[in-house]
Amino acid sequence: MSCIFCRIISKELSSQLVYEDEKFICIKDREPQAPTHLLLIPKIHVESLSHLEPSQHRLMADATSAIQKISEDCGFAASGYRTIINTGEGGGQTVFHLHIHLLSGRKLSEKI
Ligand code: 5GP
Ligand code: ZN
Repeated sequence: MSCIFCRIISKELSSQLVYEDEKFICIKDREPQAPTHLLLIPKIHVESLSHLEPSQHRLMADATSAIQKISEDCGFAASGYRTIINTGEGGGQTVFHLHIHLLSGRKLSEKI
């Protein structure tokens, strides 16, 4: 298995795990771009948002629930946070296993 996130999910590679349920893990990004920089990663291997089948769209609703829980539990729901999904090389994706960045802890004022 060559996918780095699948290897983290299977615990073959170590990571700083902050949350886990039956569908997702949430880990600290190894190169944080903000004081809090987490990655919410589905346990199933889906290459990107573009590769999510219609029958799998429920996963994104479940991701919303997980994000709400994590942001509350980790204490950054009230201050606010940014969610980012990079899709494909043109979208800046470097790890081709769908994931959602959660950034918080500094003023994220830059507009995209
Ligand atoms: P992307 O550029 O694909 O949207 O985001 C990939 C993210 O995964 C990057 O922010 C990068 O720092 C992070 N990352 C890549 N490899 C690892 C790893 O082995 N462990 C952790 N914790 N983060 C990783
Ligand atoms: Zn994978």
